[in-house]
Amino acid sequence: MALWIEGFAARDAPPGHEQSAPRRVGDAGGGRDAGSRVGRPHRAQVGARAGPETPETWASGRSRADRIVPLVAAGGVPFGGPNENVSGILAGVRTAALALSLLVGFAALGSGCAEGGGVPSAMWTWNRDEPPYQVIGNIYYVGSTQIAQFLVTTPAGHLLLDGGFETSVPRLRAEVTALGFRFEDVRYVLVSHAHIDHAQGDALVRRLTGARVVASARDAETLAAGGQGEAVYGGVYRWPPCPVDRVVADGDTVSLGGTTLTAHLTPGHTRGAVTWTMRVADAGGGRPLDVVFFPSANLNAGVRLVGNARYPEIAADFARSFAVWKALPCDVFLGVHGAFYGMDDKRARQRRGATPNPFIDPAGYRRFVADAEAGFRRELAAER
Ligand SMILES: [Zn+2]
Repeated sequence: MALWIEGFAARDAPPGHEQSAPRRVGDAGGGRDAGSRVGRPHRAQVGARAGPETPETWASGRSRADRIVPLVAAGGVPFGGPNENVSGILAGVRTAALALSLLVGFAALGSGCAEGGGVPSAMWTWNRDEPPYQVIGNIYYVGSTQIAQFLVTTPAGHLLLDGGFETSVPRLRAEVTALGFRFEDVRYVLVSHAHIDHAQGDALVRRLTGARVVASARDAETLAAGGQGEAVYGGVYRWPPCPVDRVVADGDTVSLGGTTLTAHLTPGHTRGAVTWTMRVADAGGGRPLDVVFFPSANLNAGVRLVGNARYPEIAADFARSFAVWKALPCDVFLGVHGAFYGMDDKRARQRRGATPNPFIDPAGYRRFVADAEAGFRRELAAER
């Protein structure tokens, strides 16, 4: 399997289509005609051509990565790494304002693109174009090659799981549009965890769409501080501070248009990492399917479980989170990086028409969590 470690091991320092067919979203709350055929959307250019060619580069350096690689070679998962009813007039005003802010926002992005758009060079290969597609039910993939983002559509607007890189927001908007939905209809941005590759664009999405950003208390602090103070990357990465409109506690829910997502606090990778869950209808007419959006269980390069002055409770947090993850019912396994859940293979099978939907993978979820926990236990033992 692919080596997958989030971190800056290479520098020995923690940093910090096919065309989609016309579709109708058949959720219980009422379907939506997604509209006409989907063309290949415009893609924002990200960065230059230099940089790491494979995610493996993340672990090509010294220090912790050397201890992590064997875990992976042995087959383990790297543990390294409003519903708004406004009048037509108000709607028109809102649309005009959004159009203006989109123009301003995207113009502001232009200069950043020339420099890599604020995407750390080691992450460039993660952030290449990936055509958007329907994963299952009202869940759509709108991420890049390895920075997974999901659009959960409802008749009352949409929920976006993670804003991604700021420079990729134009691409994100184009993909949402290409799927037949309106970017301006994004009502919530649900934060998985406050790291640059997932949260840098939150403030811009919020500004462009008027969406409410939802995060846990601990990661809300990081978001509001633009990354400053974060346990892993806080000393290296900064991004536009993003106000958090709603702070969720464990078990809190966010509901829109007949779809409800539940927040499970699963700290460790960050102090406030959230595992979001929801249900989708089973196309086969069976019981509703449980969906898990996994944040990350990776231990970033350079981060210690024992004697970690920046995050003293990290090991205890991870231990509790593994207990949560093991107890969560999961039929559809998704996560913030495609490699976590075998996205490329599953998408390839889905395109070939495989049934049942390849993203239904309860065994894969259990295996992933078990492997990650085994890696955690090994690492903990090695450090003690
Ligand atoms: Zn992360």
